[in-house]
Amino acid sequence: MQRILILMSDTGGGHRASAQALKAGFDELHPNRFTIEIIDFITDYLPWPFNQMPKAYPFLSNDAPWLWKLLYGGQTHALSNSLAQIGSRMLVGSVNRVLAEHKPDLIISVHPLMQLVCMLAMAKRAQRIPFVTVVTDLTTAHPLWFHHEVDAVYVASENTQEMALKAGVDPQRIHLLGLPIRPAFARSPRPKADLRAELGMALDLPAVLLIGGGEGIGPVEEIAVLCDASLSATGRPIGQIVVIAGRNKAMQERLLARNWATPARINGFVDNMPDWMNACDCIVTKAGPGTIAEALICGLPIVLSGFIPGQEEGNVPYVVDHGVGLYEESPPAIANIVARWFGPEREHLRAMSARARALGHPHATFDIVRSIVRLMKSR
Ligand code: UDP
Repeated sequence: MQRILILMSDTGGGHRASAQALKAGFDELHPNRFTIEIIDFITDYLPWPFNQMPKAYPFLSNDAPWLWKLLYGGQTHALSNSLAQIGSRMLVGSVNRVLAEHKPDLIISVHPLMQLVCMLAMAKRAQRIPFVTVVTDLTTAHPLWFHHEVDAVYVASENTQEMALKAGVDPQRIHLLGLPIRPAFARSPRPKADLRAELGMALDLPAVLLIGGGEGIGPVEEIAVLCDASLSATGRPIGQIVVIAGRNKAMQERLLARNWATPARINGFVDNMPDWMNACDCIVTKAGPGTIAEALICGLPIVLSGFIPGQEEGNVPYVVDHGVGLYEESPPAIANIVARWFGPEREHLRAMSARARALGHPHATFDIVRSIVRLMKSR
C-alpha cells in the first residue's frame, strides 16, 4: 500500500477538519489502496517553544486579535515571513524525523507553515518526495501557503489562485477545485421535512442556524435571544432557531435553561452538520471558511457576524460580492435581518439560496483526491 502523510496543525479547527475530509475522500474513492496518516507537525515534532503555537492560537485569535494581526503580518506579512524564514531553517531536522518515521510516498500539507520548512528539507535529499498543498483558507491566505517548488496547489477561489501564480507556482500545477469538505456534504440531501422530523424541529417554520465555529465563539447567545424576540414579535412565531454551540458547553447549558417563544433546538458539538444545515433556511456565523463552504453547498444564505483578522477577512467580500449573504456585526440588526428574510424578503432569501448552491463545490474533496492520485500515478 502506498503511504500518504497529511501535515496539519491545530491552529484553528479548519486544518484538522480538512485533513480528515481528505482522508475520508481517499478511503471512499480508493478503499485499502493507501495508508493515510495525519500528524500535527507543530505540536508533535517541533521543539519548545515552537510546539506551543496551537495552544496560543485560541487566545490570540479570540482575546488578542490585534496581536494576532501583528504576528500574521498585516498587509505586507513582513514580520511573519521573516520569522518563518528564520524558524524554518532551524527546524529542518524535525522534517527529517517525520520522513524517517513515516516514510511517505506523498505528502499533503493543509497548513501554511509546512511549505517552507519541508521544501528546505527536501532540497537536501537525494530523492524528492512529491509534495502538494491544499489551501484551507477560502479567499485571503497567508503568502507562506504558496511555494513555487510544490508539485500541486489546490485552491478554492480566484483570489488564492492568483496568489499561487504570484508566488511563482507553475499555472499547470494550480487547481481551483474548492475547499476539502467532508464527503457527507457531497451526498444529495434528504427531504427537509424528513430531516426536521428526525432532528426534532418544527416541520413548517423556516429555520435559522446559529453557529460560532467549532468552539462556539462570538455573540451566538445574544443573537439567539434577539432572534427569539424578532421571530415572535407578532405573537405567532414566523421562524424557528437552531443553535450549534460547538464545544462551548457553558453557552449550551445557558441556552438550554431558557424559555423560548419560538421553537428552538440547542446543540453542543454535532457530528451531523450536513443534516442540520440541510434542515435550515439560512445561517448566522463568523466568517470561518469551512462553515461558509458547507453553507454554500447546502444553499444557505449567510449572515456573517464577525471574522478573525487576517485569514478570515477576505471571506466577507466573497460572501457579499457573490450575493449569497451580508455582513452585520450588531446582534439586534442580525435578528431583524432574519425576521425580514423569513417575512417580507422571502423571495430575496430564495434567490440568495439558489446563488449559494451554484457557488458551492460539493465534490471538491473527491476532485482533489482524484487529482492527487493522478499525480502519484504519473511519478
Ligand atoms: N463543526 C462541526 N460540529 C460542530 C461545530 C462545528 O462539525 O458542532 C465544523 C463545521 O461544520 C466546520 C468546522 O467545524 O467544518 C468549523 O470550521 P470553520 O472554518 O468554519 O471555523 P473554525 O472553527 O475552524 O474557526
